[in-house]
Amino acid sequence: MGTVPSILNGGWLQMSQVTPRSLTLRYVVALGLIALLSIVSHFVLTETLRANEGAAAIINMSGRQRMLSQRISALADDLHRGDEEVREPLETAVRQFAEAHRELVRLASRKEGASVAERRLHDVYYGPAEIDRLARRFLDAAEAEIALPRGGHGAAAADEIGNLRTLSVLSRGPLLGGLEEVVAIHQSVSELRAQQMERIQWGILAIVLLTLTFEALFIFRPMVRRISVYVGQLLDLADHDYLTGMLNRRAFTARAETEIQRARRHDRAMSLLLLDVDHFKQVNDVHGHLAGDEVLCGIAQILDMQGRREDLVGRIGGEEFAILLPETSLAGAIDVADRVREAVAGEPFTAGGKALSVTLSVGVAEVDRTSPRGVVTAMGRADQMLYRAKNAGRNCVRPFRGAILPLRNAAKGLEPVLAAPPVLGASAEGPV
Ligand code: GH3
Ligand code: MG
Ligand code: MG
Repeated sequence: MGTVPSILNGGWLQMSQVTPRSLTLRYVVALGLIALLSIVSHFVLTETLRANEGAAAIINMSGRQRMLSQRISALADDLHRGDEEVREPLETAVRQFAEAHRELVRLASRKEGASVAERRLHDVYYGPAEIDRLARRFLDAAEAEIALPRGGHGAAAADEIGNLRTLSVLSRGPLLGGLEEVVAIHQSVSELRAQQMERIQWGILAIVLLTLTFEALFIFRPMVRRISVYVGQLLDLADHDYLTGMLNRRAFTARAETEIQRARRHDRAMSLLLLDVDHFKQVNDVHGHLAGDEVLCGIAQILDMQGRREDLVGRIGGEEFAILLPETSLAGAIDVADRVREAVAGEPFTAGGKALSVTLSVGVAEVDRTSPRGVVTAMGRADQMLYRAKNAGRNCVRPFRGAILPLRNAAKGLEPVLAAPPVLGASAEGPV
């Protein structure tokens, strides 16, 4: 019959190697990694934005220095021509230029990082280009021009001309070029930082995607597999008797209903055996319940081995079993019943080292496949014949061969009333 599940050989509750603990651990690690990446990504973004804002301010400031240098030179010219109204704007422009220059020098002389760009900036300010020195010369000339008395003669007039020339030359030549280079350096730094930022973002995205793939492969897939294993086991447990691993009454009846439909479709005979262990209570009383359980498991194995693959076998009560035999007429079922009965009677059971003999009584009925309640009716008929077998002295088979009237006396352990004379199996007396 081959239907006794692996509960008998202890394989039922074998779980996959993935334990809930390791699943939880993987889940926590993956979540932690994603959380960490999110935090890193947040800080990288914030830092880059802050740095870019700083770079934009510097670029702006350097650009303004160029504009201020032009303005200072032009205003100084106007002042020289006697336009006193430009004095105040000139002073303001000089002050702004000086402040911005101090700030730019401070940034250019920063030691941290010392990147290529920072070294270039340093060179522009203090190296051959000497922006710092030029700017200070420019400021000195502007301040001197403001401080000089107007309309001077001699040395004062010459100083004034000298200052104006210095302002004009520097604002158009080296200072202008130097400040342009400063702007270009800050712009390239900003672009580099943006590219770096983009690479970091792609890197983080790749790691997040990898982590999600890891989660799908090593967390969710085993989890789903595990759940389906559990569901399968639960369904198995719901259908099988825990002690013997056989189909329980409910599952046996449900599958028998399916079988009867097949028998009806193919117009094939089908029979049912009900088997009850004789005097089983005594086995328990004399040898104990554990020995009784072992006997039940032994009988289950014999029933399983005696049948064909397509036969259904179930434990439908404490020491009662049922076997559904598809494509089997009553005559064939009687043969099977007797073979099973003999196999159990001939089995040398032992309990606590003592030999034990066990017998079965069997009721047999052919299933009426034309009736919608064929299985239930056959169960009732086989049950009635089981009583007959018990009343006939046990360890025998009794087949149902005709219509039987309601069992008025069965409850009292008397023979059922037969409507037609019983035609028993091989012999009316004896086992069959
Ligand atoms: P009969 O020949 O008339 O069938 O007598 P019996 O003693 O077999 O029948 P009875 O109905 O009086 O007793 C059945 C016994 O089966 C009683 C019950 O304790 C025992 N039994 C039912 N289920 C189990 C089980 O799972 N394990 C064990 N060890 N005993 C069980
Ligand atoms: Mg019983
Ligand atoms: Mg019994």
